[in-house]
Amino acid sequence: PTRLNDLTDEYLRIAYHGFRAKDKAFNVTLTTRFDPQLGKVNVAPQELGRVLLNLFNNAFYATDQKRKLQQNGYLPEVTVSTQKTGNRVEIRVQDNGTGVPAAVKQKIFQPFFTTKPTGEGTGLGLSLSYDIVTKGHGGELSMESREGEGTEFVIRLPAL
Ligand code: ADP
Ligand code: MG
Repeated sequence: PTRLNDLTDEYLRIAYHGFRAKDKAFNVTLTTRFDPQLGKVNVAPQELGRVLLNLFNNAFYATDQKRKLQQNGYLPEVTVSTQKTGNRVEIRVQDNGTGVPAAVKQKIFQPFFTTKPTGEGTGLGLSLSYDIVTKGHGGELSMESREGEGTEFVIRLPAL
């Protein structure tokens, strides 16, 4: 049993500081909304941590790419929220970054699929994350995105 709000917050900090260390120009407005009702959830903390780390890194990368493409007035934002609904818990990771083009949407969970330059991405993050969440934890991992506007990933897990 793991306090999922604490785990999420811990990995969000790791991802944020890691990104800042690599890219001094990186800047994002982070918002967190943690449901106090979330409590403990049965997870393998290091495995779920890898999933969270990858989702946060992907979200930061998507906003950073958009910042590099836009002139002025773009404010990178990432919002992380948790919610307990009935017998499920949800973790949402929203960004207002580049979004995922329609042609790419079907491929993002495939192993080795990446749109990032060599050295910046292996394309393994989401395929691994999908297996950890579904096979490893009996949960669901889904994505919604609008190209140019942003992306939201949702992890759904059985509540304890
Ligand atoms: P990697 O991060 O190494 O590229 P992932 O499996 O984590 O591999 O992601 C696969 C691809 O899915 C990324 O290269 C990118 O094209 C797309 N993607 C994932 N998350 C996002 C996001 N938040 N915004 C835009 N595109 C994304
Ligand atoms: Mg990734």
